[in-house]
Amino acid sequence: MNKDSGAWYALRRTLPPWKFEETLSDLIRLAPEFKIDEVIVKIDTEEFSHGHPTLEWAKRYQGNLFQVKEALQKLNIVYSLNPWITVGHCDRGRNDLNHIKGLETAVGHDGSVAKHCACFISPAWREHFVELWTIYAETAPHIMWVEDDIRTFNHEPVSFGCFCDRHMARFSERIGQKVSREQLVKAILQPGKPHPWRAEYLLMQREIMVETAGFIAKTVHKISPESCLGLMSSGPRQHCLEGRDWTKLAEALADGKQLYSRPPMCNYNEDSLRGFYYSQDSIKLTRAVLPTNTIEQSECENVPFTRFSKSTVFTFLEIAITFAYGSQGVTLNLFDHVGTPMKNEEHYGQMLSAKKPFLAALGDAVRGKGEYCGVQLLHRQDSSLVKNLPIKADYPDLGEDGFNLMQALESHGIPTVYTSSDVIAASGQVLRACSDAEIMEFLRKGMFLDGVAAGILLERGFGEYIGVKNIAMPCHRRDLPFVLSAEEFHHPGFGGEKRKYMTCTLPDLGTMGRFCVLEPSQDAQIVSSFVDPDTIRVSPAMIAYSNSLGGRVIVHAMDYQYSFGVAFCHPFRREQLHGVVDYLADRSFPLKLTCDGAYSLAFRKESGENTVIGCFNLNLDDWGKVSFDLSWTKAIPDVLLLDQSGNWVKSSELKATKDNVRLKIEYLGKISFNEPLIVKLAQA
Ligand SMILES: [Zn+2]
Repeated sequence: MNKDSGAWYALRRTLPPWKFEETLSDLIRLAPEFKIDEVIVKIDTEEFSHGHPTLEWAKRYQGNLFQVKEALQKLNIVYSLNPWITVGHCDRGRNDLNHIKGLETAVGHDGSVAKHCACFISPAWREHFVELWTIYAETAPHIMWVEDDIRTFNHEPVSFGCFCDRHMARFSERIGQKVSREQLVKAILQPGKPHPWRAEYLLMQREIMVETAGFIAKTVHKISPESCLGLMSSGPRQHCLEGRDWTKLAEALADGKQLYSRPPMCNYNEDSLRGFYYSQDSIKLTRAVLPTNTIEQSECENVPFTRFSKSTVFTFLEIAITFAYGSQGVTLNLFDHVGTPMKNEEHYGQMLSAKKPFLAALGDAVRGKGEYCGVQLLHRQDSSLVKNLPIKADYPDLGEDGFNLMQALESHGIPTVYTSSDVIAASGQVLRACSDAEIMEFLRKGMFLDGVAAGILLERGFGEYIGVKNIAMPCHRRDLPFVLSAEEFHHPGFGGEKRKYMTCTLPDLGTMGRFCVLEPSQDAQIVSSFVDPDTIRVSPAMIAYSNSLGGRVIVHAMDYQYSFGVAFCHPFRREQLHGVVDYLADRSFPLKLTCDGAYSLAFRKESGENTVIGCFNLNLDDWGKVSFDLSWTKAIPDVLLLDQSGNWVKSSELKATKDNVRLKIEYLGKISFNEPLIVKLAQA
């Protein structure tokens, strides 16, 4: 099979034992019609799950698996397997304590004891797992998918880590001192600088998870050496909470074979189109932490599996994002697990079939060599080890910041990446996990910092390179030494002008935004200022600085973690941020997208001889005046549009103009939310 061309559809489907023949014949009839390439059979799923299935149950069901595999083979459809749980996602009222003798379950940071979710180092769970997964592996699936329940958060239903007796004994041994859960959790959540036990505990979890991944893979490979392992994950920022070492975990789980990855796209229900900012970020970030040869099949979900939950258009857009951002395939969890035939929701299937040529052409154009371009965002797997916590912090506060910064940039037509770039952006405390040498490297380029990130650089002695003499820790505006009303974006060199105001009632009317009092160096330029109710400029809001290393820095004196939200987004903000990246990259920033609407999602991918650009309208209004502004030193290229049938065509609606270093591609038509605009720029 070739997942490197076209649009690979992998359907995740449950065939309940009490309705097996009927759901199998429905599958056999409709999978080819829906253009499905792979069926990932889900076992003992959701509503009718038994918790940890008994061996007797699994043995009985195994005959069904062989039958479905054989039926799929006749249709030239690949058979993969997805046991619904490994240790368990969260209890959801299930109890396995009686039927698995000696099962030790997860104990959360808060002392909650699960009845279903197993502890990874429980010998009883491991014994049961080996026997159970041996039965599964005997069916020799192409991929054995492991769920994202191989993590140490969210069991029962929201607690973190495992602090069971076994874990506590292991930890106590590491530090040579007997410690209770309460003592350890208190140390982990200590305000200010991290207590050394926090890193020690996270490193212990890291080792246990790598060892567990190896244990899972070896269990499968002992029986079915040709099967590959697939990893569903929960987003690298979340996995910071358990200190995951991605490289080691991936190596252990692959166990010498091709590794598959299923990054989450979230949006389990259709809410706002803006949910797709998470989806595209999840693809990029998960890709960045895994080995480069990992094959990606993103996770398109729909819970609970009807158009009440998710429209076909929303589903199509999510799949289009998968292929626009270069995944090899998509996994589709679109139909329910309670035995309803797919026929009842066949509209999804009709969409899949109709859109496949478009998605295949899109995927083919962006896949392979070459990079996506944009502002480089930072992620460090050690972020939770080094983060300073506020007073009364809770476990989730250990998570890594950065999501809001991504959304702030993407919402305003500035693409982001996790690969190297000439412009780097950092918010929150992620820089604590970067070395001095790395930071010096960043400061030689263009660097955007929120108030927290700037404060950390000042604290670490980099003040002279960021144009900041002093910056106070961010606080609520009630605690500022002045009355804060708005931000006046006044510097004409960045697109500002006098009395161009943006609200500081951030992130929304709830007004929980946090701001910094910033004292810039004398030679820093003031891009925007905070103003009081009389419009008097009371403190710099954004500054720009060219440093002695040849680098350029922008500091925005607010805490993006608290201040970014709907009220942050504005057409003036788009102008401001476009001015920022122009300055930081000295007019060579790869792509800025403008339109007369809101909430764009744009990308630029270099692919060998071609450049592919595209945008999604994550807003219900049609846009006009769409313009891609690209760095470009070559001649004006041939400009081709991807039509809805998957053909690259010339279009009178596309206009290209160029100066020395910038290429402008204007689209004269309207762009609606339901059809992304995809354009190929080919060497003329
Ligand atoms: Zn445990």
